[in-house]
Amino acid sequence: MTTHPYPSPDARTQPGVPDRAAPAAVVAHNVAKSFRTGRQLTEILHGVSLSVNYGEMVAVMGPSGSGKSTLLYCLAGLESVTSGEVQLNGRSIASCSRAELATMRRSEIGFVFQAYNLIPTLTAVENVSLPYLLDRRPPPMDVIEQTLATVGLGERLQARPPSMSGGEQQRVALARVLAQRPRIVFADEPTGALDTRSGVLVLDELHRISEHPEQCVLVVTHDPTVAARCDRVLFMRDGLLVRELRPTGVDEVAATLAGLSQQTEG
Ligand code: ADP
Ligand code: MG
Repeated sequence: MTTHPYPSPDARTQPGVPDRAAPAAVVAHNVAKSFRTGRQLTEILHGVSLSVNYGEMVAVMGPSGSGKSTLLYCLAGLESVTSGEVQLNGRSIASCSRAELATMRRSEIGFVFQAYNLIPTLTAVENVSLPYLLDRRPPPMDVIEQTLATVGLGERLQARPPSMSGGEQQRVALARVLAQRPRIVFADEPTGALDTRSGVLVLDELHRISEHPEQCVLVVTHDPTVAARCDRVLFMRDGLLVRELRPTGVDEVAATLAGLSQQTEG
């Protein structure tokens, strides 16, 4: 059995205190984001509102260029928003100092990037240990090896990225995030470059996280089979959330996505 360093949900409920709902893990209020390229200011997100609760796995889908990655970066505090507000665990990102944000990123938030960002000269174990070392904490080797094993890399602990397949590298990158035991996991197309078997392993692991009542996952994906395993799917088009689905199957997700793309092209 794995142990988690988080308090049980009951620990938050104090007798006699009015039963205030726990804050959602991620809340966005009317988030807009513009980029300046040269003299031109282009608005990419036009006012996105959403919330993700602990214990949930939520997918974001939409045509390429619709702003999914930008949204994820804004929600994780990796990009500043132009207007609107993002709250993580009840705290407004804008009210956090740089140092507080850095601490929050280290201890509460995990981000699985589209690119693996592994250090080629380090082994799998060393790559996963790196966030601990950068943070001057001793890497818990049992947690690190166990996490690599859960993503199917128990036999590849000493392998280095150049000798790994793309799928193996993506799973090291995922293990590096998961070994930090983040409460909120953001993942940008984590199965995009994977073969089916690796994709299933990654998806299973993300799913396992979101089943924990103190953790949640927000995943950008093109893959209807990934989205169909989520509690909710948010559909994005041209910088806006345009639909939400509680998916009942892969076909339903694929049909909704296809409808969305047609409207964009038309
Ligand atoms: P998606 O992930 O849905 O494919 P992105 O969020 O990556 O979409 O990009 C949405 C739009 O924002 C694209 O037109 C892209 O060119 C633009 N964009 C993304 N990041 C930047 C940036 N740093 N500077 C300028 N434009 C950007
Ligand atoms: Mg993207």
